[in-house]
Amino acid sequence: MDDDSRIETRAIHAGQEPDPETGALMTPIHANSTYEQDRPGEHRGYEYSRTGNPTRTDLENNLASLERGEYGRAFSSGMGSINTVCNLLSAGDHVVCADDVYGGTRRLFDQVYEEYDLSFTYVDMTDLDAVSDAIRPETELVWLETPTNPLMKVIDIAALADLSHDADALCAVDNTFATPYLQRPLELGADLVSHSLTKYLGGHSDVVGGALITDDADLDERIGFYQNAVGATPGPHECFLVLRGTKTLPVRMDRHCENARELAAWLDDHPRVSRVYYPGLESHPGHEIAAEQMDDFGGMLSFELDASLEEASDVVSDTEIFTLAESLGGVESLIEQPAPMTHASIPKEEREKAGLTDGLIRVSVGIEHVDDLKADLEQAIDGALA
Ligand SMILES: *Cc1c(COP(=O)(O)O)cnc(C)c1O
Repeated sequence: MDDDSRIETRAIHAGQEPDPETGALMTPIHANSTYEQDRPGEHRGYEYSRTGNPTRTDLENNLASLERGEYGRAFSSGMGSINTVCNLLSAGDHVVCADDVYGGTRRLFDQVYEEYDLSFTYVDMTDLDAVSDAIRPETELVWLETPTNPLMKVIDIAALADLSHDADALCAVDNTFATPYLQRPLELGADLVSHSLTKYLGGHSDVVGGALITDDADLDERIGFYQNAVGATPGPHECFLVLRGTKTLPVRMDRHCENARELAAWLDDHPRVSRVYYPGLESHPGHEIAAEQMDDFGGMLSFELDASLEEASDVVSDTEIFTLAESLGGVESLIEQPAPMTHASIPKEEREKAGLTDGLIRVSVGIEHVDDLKADLEQAIDGALA
């Protein structure tokens, strides 16, 4: 396959060739732990499936191609990939992290790696001066997500990569929300991209996985060492499912974006909605940067109802097409209320200050017909806020 082909073509073909022995089009599920050696140490590329598995190799090459990176590594979950990035650090190192990263990332940093003498400073990365002020001589990693969850803050990846490199720190971007179809951090100067494959890349809410992608051979070699040494690797069935998912990533993302854009505009005009957080809206504070660094604005949005915690809970409980659930990125629409669900661990006062109000609702817009999605939200809002 031509490496210069477009992402729609690479999504389907990159990393995959018909099986040379049988002609099977799809990468087989190599359900296998060990491999025959011809003489001790002489093998055909594989010796043990934690170290390497052919189904995983095809997935890793496919993901690397999507992100326009040289090297991909797959993990058993998004947290498994983020943990591996922490493995690259040493006691005494400091990390500057965006203040509203995924809750699991923050838990890993604060409750696991603080114990190993790493330290973390959380800053609002839409404020570049605040980032500069947070960087210290011992800062080795700058970690961010964009757009963020659930307020869809947009962070300037190229600017953050520059600040990181001025400080000789690695710049790593969790690209789970945008996906490589909409945003490629390596092209913007980042050193490392992390994914939860559980979300849009898998795309069907039926698999958990993670990945790291880089252009740097030395960095990839270190990541490969920890991938094998720590062992948070995915099985071949999981890799097969993600490979099946990535084939349709571009068409799914087109519909996710189209539906989210239309829902955002509709909610923006709704009398019971006081605010919509969607980077595609011109009123969104990150709209200009998003328009520059993303190819479209994604399928995630949040909105604030002029309602109490209880009333907003009624709305998310009364939808019929939107399923009340955490997670995101599948073909089906999901709805959740951050205050009592994904962000419940943050004290109320701090939550309110950060804009995570009781009436805030987050949706992962699926690829159903948008008119059905609107009608469903309308009946739930009307019923609960009568
Ligand atoms: C879900 C998620 C993760 C964690 O991934 P898992 O596959 O659940 O371990 C990390 N970052 C972001 C942005 C996520 O949405």
